[in-house]
Amino acid sequence: MAEDISSDTDNLPARPVCPNCIHPINKRDDFCPQCSAPVGLAVTIDPFKRIWAMGFLYKQAVNSRINGFMLVGMWLIMLPLILQMTNFFIEGMSQVLNGRAVFPSTYSRILYGPAAIVPALLLYKTTKNYRQSRVTQLPDEDEDDC
Ligand SMILES: [Zn+2]
Repeated sequence: MAEDISSDTDNLPARPVCPNCIHPINKRDDFCPQCSAPVGLAVTIDPFKRIWAMGFLYKQAVNSRINGFMLVGMWLIMLPLILQMTNFFIEGMSQVLNGRAVFPSTYSRILYGPAAIVPALLLYKTTKNYRQSRVTQLPDEDEDDC
């Protein structure tokens, strides 16, 4: 009986699937047509496709169930960005207040500062998502102990 099943599956053509949603993909696909997960070999090397891959990662961190490893990774990526952007803003404002403003660099620093809201929001939503994931996981952990 088991040999019949294995002989049937051996005759099927092998087709790659998305590791995220198990949707069939083509070998040359860079992103899954179903869930847009990065599945290509060079997606994280190509500068433009890398942006989409990072966007998928951030979308997963905010919307789907994540573990502590993912949360720590997001903090390690986003916190230095927030600190750097805030530091640029403070430096730009101090240059303006001290009368030492230089046209392009000072004002670009001031404009760069408020953009820190983007990584801060991502970090907030990821942390909130992780905390909600833990709350919904607790009953499952109790069932495993039984
Ligand atoms: Zn997929």
